[in-house]
Amino acid sequence: MRYRDFHRESVANPDDFWRREAGRIHWQTPFDQVLDRSNPPFARWFCGGRTNLCFNAVDRHLPARAHQNALVYVSTETGIERRYTYADLHAEVNRMAAVMRSLGVKRGQRVLIYLPMIPEAVFAVLACARLGAIHSVVFGGFAAPSLAARIDDAKPVLLVSADAGARGGKVIDYTPLVDEAMARAEYAPPKVLLIDRQLAPERLNAPYLVDYEPLREQHYDVQVPCEWLESNEPSYILYTSGTTGKPKGVQRDVGGYAVALAASMEYIFEGRAGDTLFTASDIGWVVGHSYIIYAPLLAGMTTVMYEGTPVRPDGGIWWRLVEQHRINLMFTAPTAIRVLKKQDPALLRSADLSSLRTLFLAGEPLDEPTAEWISAALGKPVVDNYWQTETGWPMLAIQRGVEPLPQKLGSPGVPCYGYDLVLRNEHTGEPCAQGEKGVITLSYPLPPGCMQTVWGDDARFVKTYWESVPGQPVYSTFDWGVQDSDGYVTILGRTDDVINVAGHRLGTREIEEAISSHAAVAEVAVVGVNDAVKGQAALAFVVLRDAGGAASPADAQTLAASLAATVDRQLGAIGRPARVHFVPMLPKTRSGKLLRRAIAALAEGRDPGDLPTIEDASALQSIREAVSAGDS
Ligand code: AMP
Repeated sequence: MRYRDFHRESVANPDDFWRREAGRIHWQTPFDQVLDRSNPPFARWFCGGRTNLCFNAVDRHLPARAHQNALVYVSTETGIERRYTYADLHAEVNRMAAVMRSLGVKRGQRVLIYLPMIPEAVFAVLACARLGAIHSVVFGGFAAPSLAARIDDAKPVLLVSADAGARGGKVIDYTPLVDEAMARAEYAPPKVLLIDRQLAPERLNAPYLVDYEPLREQHYDVQVPCEWLESNEPSYILYTSGTTGKPKGVQRDVGGYAVALAASMEYIFEGRAGDTLFTASDIGWVVGHSYIIYAPLLAGMTTVMYEGTPVRPDGGIWWRLVEQHRINLMFTAPTAIRVLKKQDPALLRSADLSSLRTLFLAGEPLDEPTAEWISAALGKPVVDNYWQTETGWPMLAIQRGVEPLPQKLGSPGVPCYGYDLVLRNEHTGEPCAQGEKGVITLSYPLPPGCMQTVWGDDARFVKTYWESVPGQPVYSTFDWGVQDSDGYVTILGRTDDVINVAGHRLGTREIEEAISSHAAVAEVAVVGVNDAVKGQAALAFVVLRDAGGAASPADAQTLAASLAATVDRQLGAIGRPARVHFVPMLPKTRSGKLLRRAIAALAEGRDPGDLPTIEDASALQSIREAVSAGDS
């Protein structure tokens, strides 16, 4: 099949296209309408059809694959390695579902999952799907106030957590964080189901904590039937950062997501039943939801779940995993490859990588030197793909399962089938000419698998995503891009105040809010600047209440450390700025808006351009001075 025809058909005739694709999953009750367009910008897929994500990911494979590994778990933090066949996974998911049910979890209710990378996280997600409960996984690196904010938004009936996580050999106690979040949250659930890994030296014993292990024993042989959900019932909420300090709950459906992931496995990832996929990400991010948990299992593959870093015990660990587990497909973020590039090349060469067919990279721009290095080192196709939490699966990629078009360095490729992707002029909303920079937009309807709405806030969904391109009712990705004559798109960064640090999406406003909570701070601006390894790094420019507060280098250092600790406590260490600069004032417009793009330009040593609305141009000079002093 030619890519061009395939793509054209998918957007010209989505009903027929997706009706065919829907045959990839089991429908307990067939749908009676492929696409309901009656209420744009909302789209409802496979209306009236009843299905279940857990059934499709687990039960459906039992007749043919009960003894095939479904989940291989490797932790280089604890030294634990476990293998679960589809039969084992089925049993564990039933146990977890039975335990959740015994704690009162019902269809349509939310379960918040705050877990490190352990198999129980997969069981918990699939158990929710089985019960028809809506899971909301919160990345384990988020601090208590962030967790509390997500609890209050999702109002879960149960929280699932663990005694501790581990990263780089350091144990991170979870129970004090959970305890603080439970105390802060207005809608704290009555119970926290605790997976005790026996890692935390001192575990909290709050009355709401319920140990999983004894309950698992009690429910060892209980079978929990799958709830047959209408295709458009919500399957999960996943919070992501935007321009405001309040994270958005991206809500996804059941049937559309299942169909979209199953199709992507063939057309984009070329994954087949029986293959092994290693996605090195975290279940707290969308890549983890889609390509650690759901997609490989929907496709009858083996998924490898890894707890640890790419460089511990040494930089060869991932390549040894490929060899040991005969991994066929691998998926990670460019940052990890930039980290591995600094390691001894012998570590890569000495592993037997013959099983590996393709490496997929996503989550942040893939720079050309990294792409060239890894392609040459592996001698296998490296497929960059562009998407976001909201879409759930790639928007741009070379879809090798459709047609293996050539790669162009610096571009993630061409629009994926299902997406009517158009670059538009930010002022006029009109489609861009070839080579003209524009906002990457998607026309209505979004294909299956994409977000349905913002949890509990349809108006925010419409306003944020569908009303930001002038005069055009189109979905904005908030990314800049440029398209060439062959349809290849290159990503040129975000149009909003979101930054991307090591593939993690962070709102600069969230970091600013955390820093502002420090008593010494009068004002702060956080911007992202280029970073050789992490893609971007967050820099904070802080105006102190007491101008002399950071007069000496020692004072400045102490204060910067104290601000970093505040970010760790408020948001989590992932939000910690790489550097803090103290400045007498921040550049603003006369109406008081921060000139962030100008600050970012200065921080990268670029010309901030004309700023006719600036209130006091000397503020620019203080940013320049702070940056050059910091660099010296
Ligand atoms: P997230 O929602 O955390 O997955 O972050 C999505 C954002 O990451 C996108 O809106 C882009 O800004 C960026 N991004 C994701 N994949 C790529 C890619 N392959 N190339 C460039 N930027 C990317």
